[in-house]
Amino acid sequence: MSKPTLGIIGGGQLGSMLAVAANKLKVKTVIFCDDIQAPAQRFSNEFIHGHYNDQKKINEFVNKVDVITYEFENIPYETLSEINKVKPVIPKPSVNRIIQHRLAEKDFINKLNIRTTRYASIEKKSEVSSLQDLLPGLLKTTTLGYDGKGQHLINNVEDLDSINVDFSRGYILEKLVKLKKEISIIVTRFSDKKYEIYEPIENLHEDQILKYSSIPADISDKILDQSKMWAIQLAEELKYVGTLCVEFFIDRNENLYVNEIAPRVHNSGHLTINAYNISQFENHIRAVCKLDQIPLKKISNAKMTNIIGDQIIVYRNKKINSNEFFFDYLKKDIKDKRKMGHLTTLTK
Ligand code: ADP
Ligand code: MG
Repeated sequence: MSKPTLGIIGGGQLGSMLAVAANKLKVKTVIFCDDIQAPAQRFSNEFIHGHYNDQKKINEFVNKVDVITYEFENIPYETLSEINKVKPVIPKPSVNRIIQHRLAEKDFINKLNIRTTRYASIEKKSEVSSLQDLLPGLLKTTTLGYDGKGQHLINNVEDLDSINVDFSRGYILEKLVKLKKEISIIVTRFSDKKYEIYEPIENLHEDQILKYSSIPADISDKILDQSKMWAIQLAEELKYVGTLCVEFFIDRNENLYVNEIAPRVHNSGHLTINAYNISQFENHIRAVCKLDQIPLKKISNAKMTNIIGDQIIVYRNKKINSNEFFFDYLKKDIKDKRKMGHLTTLTK
């Protein structure tokens, strides 16, 4: 059977790593991105530059491919669902509609009796004063947030006076969890009850941006079992196809919470490139393009360090040891807080 040509929406580092994995599997890729300098175009067979609402460019893209996936979840639902009428979009757009909205996402998770932190929808500043039991809390935009963007710590109602928030955008107030640890689980689902699951990854954030990920996670067997069970349950309930990541909180009383779901490959899973026989990216391509499912085998423990902002200059000039793997995302401009690359170290 001939392999499909894969369209990827988004051309950043995740798009790059997806295209590299596709090349390995001899799957042709066409990348569609609104950034003319998108780094992923170096690795794809074709690149189309266009805005995500440019119908002519979208048609050109759709005509060139057999199946479409995406590297980030903030593409408008309407766009994905229009494309899906012509060529299959995987993961399906309805998954995205739930997950790209923090309230819809948390409602969905709670309906499955899976714990999240307590939360409320906020449409007006005055609503916060009747929600004192959610303080201290984080006020987050319901859509379009990433790497902690659009989040404000609120200790008391007075804090609201010192921040500049346009409440008409839609907000969620989440109770602050007293964190002991954060972990994530990456699972690739192929079809009903057919999936490959990676072991939990321990994550350390600095300024709400992921800094380090490592395996094995230092967690109890109970947390290990519960987190895997919830990740699989979420993937099954969504009838998800492809790679998905579930981010978890563990509080100081050893309670597990789902923080959020990413309907895509995830930064914490970059270490799977070197620590497993099949990476999260390759598994995503395999599932989306209906290629063989191969049992996962772990090769090594590992630690990944995100290289943020001008730190990349240091790494570009650094000697890399034989157990280290340096990835430069080749982004045109170095910006503060921007993920510029990562280093994976295989550990004992
Ligand atoms: P993003 O979409 O930016 O990844 P998250 O909701 O995952 O947003 O928040 C980023 C980080 O901020 C989390 O990984 C965690 O470290 C911290 N954080 C977010 N929400 C909470 C919360 N309710 N309690 C404690 N820490 C939180
Ligand atoms: Mg997150």
